[in-house]
Amino acid sequence: MASKTMINLTRMSKVFQPMTTGLPDTGEKTEICQSHKLMINYGIIKPVSIGMYALLPLGMRILNKFISLVDKEMTNLGAEKILLPALTSTSLWKKTNRYNSNKDELFTVKDRHEKEYILSPTYEEAICDLISSTGHISTKLLPLRLYQISSKWRDEMKPRLGFLRSREFIMKDLYTFDSNLDNAQSTYDRVCESYNNIFKQIGIKYEKVIGDVGTIGGLVSHEYHYISDVGEDTILQCPSCHFSINQTISKTTSCPKCKNELQQYNAAEIGHTFLLNTKYSQPLKAMYMEQNEMKPMVMGCFGLGLSRILMLTVEILSKNNEIRWPVKLAPYTVCIIPPKAGSKEEGASNYVERLFEILCKRDIDVILDDRTDFTIGKRFVFARALGYPYIIIVGKASTRSIPLFEVHDINNSVYNELSLEQISHYFDNINFKN
Ligand SMILES: [Zn+2]
Repeated sequence: MASKTMINLTRMSKVFQPMTTGLPDTGEKTEICQSHKLMINYGIIKPVSIGMYALLPLGMRILNKFISLVDKEMTNLGAEKILLPALTSTSLWKKTNRYNSNKDELFTVKDRHEKEYILSPTYEEAICDLISSTGHISTKLLPLRLYQISSKWRDEMKPRLGFLRSREFIMKDLYTFDSNLDNAQSTYDRVCESYNNIFKQIGIKYEKVIGDVGTIGGLVSHEYHYISDVGEDTILQCPSCHFSINQTISKTTSCPKCKNELQQYNAAEIGHTFLLNTKYSQPLKAMYMEQNEMKPMVMGCFGLGLSRILMLTVEILSKNNEIRWPVKLAPYTVCIIPPKAGSKEEGASNYVERLFEILCKRDIDVILDDRTDFTIGKRFVFARALGYPYIIIVGKASTRSIPLFEVHDINNSVYNELSLEQISHYFDNINFKN
């Protein structure tokens, strides 16, 4: 068991995964949803203060997989990754008149010189200031697309439902800069394609609806939603042409295109895109130079709620108190369960190394449930509840002359007994990678 490859194998007995049963004490007086409860009970997240959660090791793995999926799509879009400070000077938010209108929801801090900062919920001001402080942008650099993935803060009146209404959350925010409105519109369309690619890889049906520009402002906006009863938005959708709009901006109950009656759904927002025009670039002087003339750049901003999406995937996919993950986001893709210590099959434990090699070669991440004082059955129940997409059991059939292993595809409820060679082929045919 101590060979070189096996050193990299994660052993469940070593994972920091504090488990609880029953309803979690989140310090929040309001409702708890299934995903919230499952993620806390199974030691994926932990409430540390009202509306604030720690991501534990399994939660962090899920987030990192999601980040690498998003990074890849942003790179394809030609966007470059940056990281702005968590604190934005209050004076910048006063220049765009957003400070007073959002004051109640902003966390503010003062430094020793009494200068006030905001723990940023969004970064339109900060990014424009960053750009204007570099002078002006040459047209050669346009379109300019900059994004970050970081914690954001909002002092919610009533934090609830875990990462659905938390006070600290993790968001991907992209800011784009173009020379004119036409170019900004094509950037906008390209980002919408990227979002489509991201959501397709997660695999849960999403809705793109005409959105409310709200306090961010701008010319055009779309919201991305998952239909879910825990959602706090209502979207209206035409059953035939799929015209969709957020109820808050809809003045009609019938489709403007085909006059059908619009249907209502509870939905949770997962992303929001805005074509801002020069709302921020003008007052904050994010300019470019064209024919010796300084002009404000036409901006877009594009949010994607990473921590929200993670929670909603659990909410939507999980059932009967068992978590389910999209394969690309699962904390580990495969869980191997070796025989119980002292059982007749114990000798077959040697095959764990072969299985690990097969998966490792294919870049598939594996966790070994090495708690061999428990029965296989008990560990299988646990691995299912955690939602590992594939579970391989080294059980009775592994002692045959040609040893067979139980391979469970948990998301599709399919089970096969396969030889080592068949397992190699099986995993060659599945696309796991971001
Ligand atoms: Zn219609």
